[in-house]
Amino acid sequence: MIRLHYFTFNPFQENTYILSAEDGSAIVIDPGCYTEEEEQELITYLEKEHLKPVRLLNTHCHLDHVFGNAFVAKFYGLEVEIHPGEQIVLDQALSMSHLYGIPMTPSPVPKHSLLPGISIPLGDDQLEILFTPGHSPASISLYCKNQGFLIAGDVLFQESIGRTDLPGGNMATLLKSIREAFFVLPDDTLVYPGHGPHTTIGHERRHNPFLT
Ligand SMILES: [Zn+2]
Repeated sequence: MIRLHYFTFNPFQENTYILSAEDGSAIVIDPGCYTEEEEQELITYLEKEHLKPVRLLNTHCHLDHVFGNAFVAKFYGLEVEIHPGEQIVLDQALSMSHLYGIPMTPSPVPKHSLLPGISIPLGDDQLEILFTPGHSPASISLYCKNQGFLIAGDVLFQESIGRTDLPGGNMATLLKSIREAFFVLPDDTLVYPGHGPHTTIGHERRHNPFLT
């Protein structure tokens, strides 16, 4: 049974997810911790729950999702893992952070391992990588079929969708990703987005103004 915990970090109010298994192994997704307090909050949770992070994944590489890459990678001795198509976004994160006036420690050079169709094991369960571009050029989402939940990055929000005005964004591509990768999932699938509260596929199918 995978357990899910999340934090809301940094000035962009980004959701950082920790998925953990009964054996104590954990996956950190989109570490957005920015301040020392936020870093401490993350460590404290993992220590308290006796969890050992074994992988560090980015759904996509906008700065609010990678602020904590350097810290988490170093502290836990992990490699950052992304989809190869997000490298260009990661390369821009540092200059974007200066543009926004929020300097950051650059992410370590990542491994390009998050390819669609690959399964990521966690305890007795696994997460499936879905390719869901549109908000950024090569966003991925993580789907746990057994437990019926989805880590959606900035693709789909509660009654909203990700912005498409940043470099590599495309509205038609985003809507296609949601329809073809998400709306084929069962209605009761829980959707955990990169910002804001969680929702379900069924709720968004019926109430999302961008998709009804
Ligand atoms: Zn984003």
